[in-house]
Amino acid sequence: MVEITDEYRRKLDALYEAFSIVSEDTHVFLCDMKFDYSRWSKELVENFGLPSEYMYEAGKIWEEHIHPEDRKAYSEGIKAIFAGQSDGHDMQYRARRSDGEYDICTCRGIVLYNEEGKPDFFGGAIRNHSQKSHIDILTGLRNQFGFFSDLQSYISSETPVRIIMVGIGKLTEINEVYGYQVGNRLLQTFGRYLMDNVSSRDCTYRLDGACFGIISKNTEEELAKSYEKIRAYFRKGIKVDDLELFVELNAGILSLDEFNTDDQTVYSCLNFSYEESKIHKHGDLVSFRNELTSESRRNLEKLHAIRASISQNFKGFFLQYQPVVDAKTEKIVAAEALLRWKSDEYGVVPPDIFIPFLETDPLFPTLGEWILETAIKDAKKILEHVPQLVININLSYSQMERTDFPDTVCNIINKAGFDPKQLCLEITERCRLLDMDLLRNVIVTLRARGARFALDDFGTGFSSLGLVKNLPFDTIKIDRSFVQQIEQDEREQKLLNNFTDIAGTFGAEVCVEGIETMGMKDIIKDYSVNCFQGYFYSKPLLIDDLLEKIKDGSDCFVSK
Ligand code: C2E
Ligand code: MG
Ligand code: MG
Repeated sequence: MVEITDEYRRKLDALYEAFSIVSEDTHVFLCDMKFDYSRWSKELVENFGLPSEYMYEAGKIWEEHIHPEDRKAYSEGIKAIFAGQSDGHDMQYRARRSDGEYDICTCRGIVLYNEEGKPDFFGGAIRNHSQKSHIDILTGLRNQFGFFSDLQSYISSETPVRIIMVGIGKLTEINEVYGYQVGNRLLQTFGRYLMDNVSSRDCTYRLDGACFGIISKNTEEELAKSYEKIRAYFRKGIKVDDLELFVELNAGILSLDEFNTDDQTVYSCLNFSYEESKIHKHGDLVSFRNELTSESRRNLEKLHAIRASISQNFKGFFLQYQPVVDAKTEKIVAAEALLRWKSDEYGVVPPDIFIPFLETDPLFPTLGEWILETAIKDAKKILEHVPQLVININLSYSQMERTDFPDTVCNIINKAGFDPKQLCLEITERCRLLDMDLLRNVIVTLRARGARFALDDFGTGFSSLGLVKNLPFDTIKIDRSFVQQIEQDEREQKLLNNFTDIAGTFGAEVCVEGIETMGMKDIIKDYSVNCFQGYFYSKPLLIDDLLEKIKDGSDCFVSK
């Protein structure tokens, strides 16, 4: 082996630099053939565990990384190139990364000849098809993978930053009315504007659909001002092609200054703030911190701990069961499973604190399955004493979004040998975030198998009526906020009367939640109400406590 001279090495470097501006998943190599001395891109060296960016006999080293089944073709190609019998190659092979996995790569290389026609350089590019690109093709911004990778670095280096999720409202409508081309141009314009006016290219991300992200060192106040500027700019109308579009935005913000967390938890919390902005705040910037009240300080850490429990075999999660009683006999007819989480550090955490933040998390459906399995297992114990009992289980909209959700439920029921007629799935208004056809399909499929559906917290949102009209519910659960003052407030009595009429029109039963006193019950029992639930009968109980109460012969839960 002849050692390369400084002059040739400089020439190699100069040529390499000229080559090396290519896209993120494509990496350059260049070999000075006289010395068989090469320079390979840093990413290739890191990803595949090569000895160095500069290598003698790089072909032989690389050959070791190529899958044994693809190696012969590669080695013959390289031999022919160095023997002057071939002026390049274009091949696909599997190459072993430093973690032992194989990536599929396409490698194209050509020989460059000197003035005398002798082979001088062999150079080209290797494209790694398995590598997830960090660049969004439409906007040229970093994408979700880039966002997560950067976020991980900020967390591990404990660098405080502010993160904004900002998105275009009604992009779907714009696509439908003006076509996807216009929608795409709008996304490009928006991305460009963010990059030029709020942050640099490096810290602006296209996250998902209409959503963009910004990671910034500016304060929340500064970013809030920037957001209002962008909002005003897009609201007054912008030109896209020949059209003038009036665009509304939504945005959530989160300050990352607690680092005992992970990128997914941060993303879920940010996403929650964004959804709040979209659904309840007409696009005003919603700060994750402001959303939280008394316990705000350690909330991100707590959510991280709760999220981590999902992958630690659901450690800390448990269910309590609250009886539902028949309005006439006051005997238990159903039990609602209510989730809690407990740890030494945080004590018992109620579901309102974590479910809204974690329900869009990719891990949530696994927790949903655990809830179904556990509740059905416990329900079988209650059935030994109350054979007609129905178990009520709350669902999050994100569970139902999965195409295999009906199958998952059926498998769990079949495995447990449970009669689906004794299962009632409760859904809340948040499910209107789902596509209505998808939702109806899930309900119809599972009802055909015998399962029942209840609409929970009826009356608390804008679309209760729409949902009752469009979906077949067996039960409507009237939220406790409508009966809290029923003893003093005649209007609440009238409202309850209307609600029960509506339920009757659509053939659904009525359950009233939040019965706390004898007085409430005595008033409400005169309306067309089928069941009651509330502290007057029983608070949520652990399964053993519930069983004990039932075994004591008190299937009638009237407080003494
Ligand atoms: P929800 O399904 O409407 O459950 C009823 C909530 O009201 C429960 O709160 C229950 O403890 C409370 N409650 C019942 N009776 C009374 C009463 O007389 N007075 C008062 N003040 N409160 C009463 P909890 O257990 O904190 O659950 C809150 C919400 O969290 C639930 O509301 C439900 O939407 C959600 N949730 C609970 N468990 C699960 C679950 O396993 N999965 C899903 N997706 N959501 C759940
Ligand atoms: Mg419920
Ligand atoms: Mg409810």
